[in-house]
Amino acid sequence: MSKLPHVGTTIFTVMSQLANQHNAVNLSQGFPNFPVDSKLREILAENANENVHQYMPMPGSPLLLDKIGELVQKTYQRGVNASEEILVTAGATQGIFTTIMALIEQGDEVIILDPSYDCYEPTILLAGGIPKRIPLDNNFLPNWQRVEDAISDKTRMLITNNPHNPSGRVWSESDMIELENILEKNEHVLLLSDEVYEFITFEHKHISAHSRPKLHNRTITISSFGKTFHITGWKMGYLIAPPTLMLEIKKVHQFNVFSVNSIAQATLTKYLDQVDVSVLGSFYQEKRDSFRELMKNSKFELLPCEGTYFQTASYANISNATDIEFCKELTRKHKVATIPISVFNADQKDNKIIRFCFAKDDQTLQNAAEKLCKI
Ligand code: PMP
Ligand code: GLN
Repeated sequence: MSKLPHVGTTIFTVMSQLANQHNAVNLSQGFPNFPVDSKLREILAENANENVHQYMPMPGSPLLLDKIGELVQKTYQRGVNASEEILVTAGATQGIFTTIMALIEQGDEVIILDPSYDCYEPTILLAGGIPKRIPLDNNFLPNWQRVEDAISDKTRMLITNNPHNPSGRVWSESDMIELENILEKNEHVLLLSDEVYEFITFEHKHISAHSRPKLHNRTITISSFGKTFHITGWKMGYLIAPPTLMLEIKKVHQFNVFSVNSIAQATLTKYLDQVDVSVLGSFYQEKRDSFRELMKNSKFELLPCEGTYFQTASYANISNATDIEFCKELTRKHKVATIPISVFNADQKDNKIIRFCFAKDDQTLQNAAEKLCKI
């Protein structure tokens, strides 16, 4: 008996392991390989001697909840009630899991947009829900008519991810308007808005559900300190939801983790006063530009990248292999590990596109590009 008969080991684990095994440059799993801000490390060291080693309150340290509220106010001009609408989570993954467990009942339909991040579907299934996988267009942007057509009386939730992993695409104002219109016509549908890359956009600023008042009363917004502060291993994040939904989410949270790592919460509380998240976009834009420049003479066709730290590319000019086979071969033979996109699609639909993570130091990117340009 298996509750998830079709689920194996995640592609991120598979490819990172393969990279290590073959001593390949790892541009697969999304994590930075450069040092963490020294200020953050100093605060962490100071906190080791403070009285912050016991359980925090269940929803999160009140000081951290206030700081998150200030960040949301400053970034999106949205006032949220820190004690009623914010929950500190052990990363975005736990926020997503807890939300789905709390709000999805047996037989509820949940719409996800493919290619979709890998934790959505299994969590819906564990909650007894029915995933409805709707493909994004070939350019990885939503076809809103298709989304609207997928909504039925049984639809309880739409999960969106913008800026989008794996494609690096970012939604425009007209996408947000379409989304609002569809939800306005379908009051029974909640929105789970996964915005973990909210601070990593380039030419166009991210439009958050936070800055769309029409969405507030039915939206759960997911954020990740892992992405924002280059600390994916800390597994720290938060979600924001209206009070009635939050009551249900907290009921699950208290038996899922009860409360989140105390020293990390205390550290982030102080760090939030000393860090400027608005520079993150230009920091990664430089990396995107330099990686694209380094790859200019390769046979890969680089696709648009407007946000996140992922660059997608077509290898149709290089090989006819499936993307999974191509990625494995690239790791084994050419010593660069990447992620195949088909694993995020229903039925593993394969368009011969792979994903590079460019959250890496210059040396790593140069080294990878040199190998990739020889193919
Ligand atoms: N959603 C998306 C779209 C992601 O890319 C990731 C991870 N990288 C997560 C959720 C999970 O984030 P966390 O590591 O904070 O659990
Ligand atoms: N979200 C990261 C990525 O897209 C991986 C996180 C994980 O390994 N679970 O690469």
